[in-house]
Amino acid sequence: MAAPTVLEIALPTPLRRRFDYLPPEGVDTTLLKPGQRVRVPFGNQRLIGLILRVKSESSLPLQNLRPAEALLDTKPLLPDDLWRLCLWAADYYQHPIGDALHTALPVLLRQGEPDREKGEPYWQLTTEGKGLPEGALKRAPRQAELLAALQQRGALNRADLAALGIARSHVKTLEDKGLVFSREQVLTPSPEPNILRDTPLTLSDEQAAALAQIPEDGFHISLLDGTTGSGKTEIYLQAIARTLSQGRQALVLVPEIGLTPQTLARFQRRFAQPVVALHSGMNDRERLDAWLQARDGRARIVIGTRSAIFTPMADLGILIVDEEHDSSFKQQDGFRYSARDLAALRAHRLNIPLILGSATPSLESLHNARTGRYHYLRLTHRAGNARAPELLTQDIRRQPLDEGFSRDTLERIRTTLDAGNQVLVFLNRRGYAPTLECPDCGWLAECRHCDTRLTLHQTPRHLHCHHCDHQRAVPRACPSCKSTRLQPLGQGTERSEEALQRHFPDTRVLRVDRDSTRQKNAFRDLVEEVHRGDPCILVGTQMLAKGHHFADVTLVVILDSDAGLFSTDFRGPERMGQLLLQVAGRAGRADKPGQVIIQTHHAEHPLVRTLLERGYHAFAELILSERRLTGLPPFRHMALIRAESKRPENAVAFLKQVRALAEQRHPPGHELGYLGPLPAMLEKRGDRFRYQLQVNAANRGALQKLLSQLAPEMEQHALAKRNRWSIDVDPQDM
Ligand code: ADP
Ligand code: ZN
Ligand code: ZN
Repeated sequence: MAAPTVLEIALPTPLRRRFDYLPPEGVDTTLLKPGQRVRVPFGNQRLIGLILRVKSESSLPLQNLRPAEALLDTKPLLPDDLWRLCLWAADYYQHPIGDALHTALPVLLRQGEPDREKGEPYWQLTTEGKGLPEGALKRAPRQAELLAALQQRGALNRADLAALGIARSHVKTLEDKGLVFSREQVLTPSPEPNILRDTPLTLSDEQAAALAQIPEDGFHISLLDGTTGSGKTEIYLQAIARTLSQGRQALVLVPEIGLTPQTLARFQRRFAQPVVALHSGMNDRERLDAWLQARDGRARIVIGTRSAIFTPMADLGILIVDEEHDSSFKQQDGFRYSARDLAALRAHRLNIPLILGSATPSLESLHNARTGRYHYLRLTHRAGNARAPELLTQDIRRQPLDEGFSRDTLERIRTTLDAGNQVLVFLNRRGYAPTLECPDCGWLAECRHCDTRLTLHQTPRHLHCHHCDHQRAVPRACPSCKSTRLQPLGQGTERSEEALQRHFPDTRVLRVDRDSTRQKNAFRDLVEEVHRGDPCILVGTQMLAKGHHFADVTLVVILDSDAGLFSTDFRGPERMGQLLLQVAGRAGRADKPGQVIIQTHHAEHPLVRTLLERGYHAFAELILSERRLTGLPPFRHMALIRAESKRPENAVAFLKQVRALAEQRHPPGHELGYLGPLPAMLEKRGDRFRYQLQVNAANRGALQKLLSQLAPEMEQHALAKRNRWSIDVDPQDM
């Protein structure tokens, strides 16, 4: 008897295991390959899974295995290199394989849709339709007209119907009568012979030198470090042009809010070749179509956010990660991969160049550049004639502030507006005020589900928890002492908007934050208005810090720069510095020199002084030396094991046991160290108590080995069921 065929399948379940099934009945088993999808019964549901292995035995008795119901693909969905990258990533990030693969695929493929593009529909006559005598249907003149057109032309598509003025309902009637049927056709435009549409700019010496360092093929990672406006994107464009002329494709990753219509338009203006985008604003069908075009090579350039790292590419020749320091490249829940780090691996495996670009590189990348793993390319001038903005620190400790603004700041805003220019005011806090306070007894509005305060919003007026979304009405009197003098405490964007409007009643004040841009196109409309160039004040959160260039903004005001300085997240100061310089970079583009006012309560803080007086690199060096001393990344590698539960003792007990298990496997020492369980930054959130155990390691190998032993033990642990838990390798947020 021939050996049986058993399929080892990855299913989208939170379980860290693979599932054995028999092949679907009647399927030729020689057609079964890893990477194909199958539909299988699972309990009483149906799931779509991926074949991981085709094997001849199972650890379970064969009679216990159920057959898969259907084979959905004739070929593996992903090219081999990407398939292996996904398997590697599931392993490295300690995530269940089925869920990891699921995350990497477009939604429609997860749901079992065929891996085919949705074509354009067209209509033809059935045999019966063709057999109708001339002059049939004459009582329904529109239908008769349609019939005649089909008899004459054979087939009609949507455009033809529109031209003839025939409504779809008439087509439908004939379809229902069995006279007409529809088919779909994917239109493939013939390949465009030209690479470029627009002539490239002449590179500055510095840009030319940087581009010359980036090889046209072969594995090579460069860190392209240049201030905003120094011409990094121009280098990407020219490097991509070289790759396209070799007949290969380019994949560009940008941060979540960096993929603006302007960015896309800039690529499309430059290249005659098809450019496709992949981002969260697209519907599932559009995403799948773009994905398929990348896989079969019709899309020559793909620009996408984090998950685009999993785009299959027929012949990828270059990878680019813009704003590589941005934390949106790391997924913060579920499959916690870093798209930037996977880009490095993908480039290595494909033997192609990767460019990591940033005005404020992450400390990891700077470290890699210093140790020679990355090639360090620096752009120090702004492109064209634009000058770097001037930074002015304002110590606001002993100054009277008017709703958060110093007198000097208000004067500078006025001068800027009078000169016909625009002003950007940055405050990374939406809402009216961070909380509501009772001046008589000290009561503060707190969220009853989280360890945090409720933010006061005015439009519409309510109290809102930004962590669990809990909302409630604003009380009229203090719940504790009945005082009716409740007052907002601190500044949010709504309040700054109100204050600015009061000071500058004749000027447009535009607020940009999640609340003001909730409606479709609201953000786009705001940006368009600013681009028209009339004097105005933009006030908003970090939505203003990325992606958009505001050419007429000549004054940037940073109201409160200190938030990250004393954060318990060790990355707080790094983030603060990056955000500050990103915001500052919005000013003084084009030929208008800009000014940046930074209001701070900590003007004497060594990190603040270093950043403002000596710049980002000195600042980064200072933080790096602290990290080296304290054994933090990038000098040691880190993983966080998180657990949360409605009862704090459950989470703590579980993590204590995990730590004991870990220490049994690997006693604490230089190679592996343990810290915790400690409360998470927000200990209580959404009625759950959150704790974490930190594991740090001298090398990735030891950390990986430990985690892959621990993960299955944790899953089996009796206390695991009382917690939500996860492993976060190379965590970005503490
Ligand atoms: P970055 O990506 O570093 O922010 P960009 O590539 O967007 O910089 O360049 C900033 C501005 O300078 C853009 O308007 C761009 O068209 C212009 N620019 C870039 N390189 C050159 C060049 N070599 N000559 C003239 N203008 C340039
Ligand atoms: Zn009170
Ligand atoms: Zn809450």
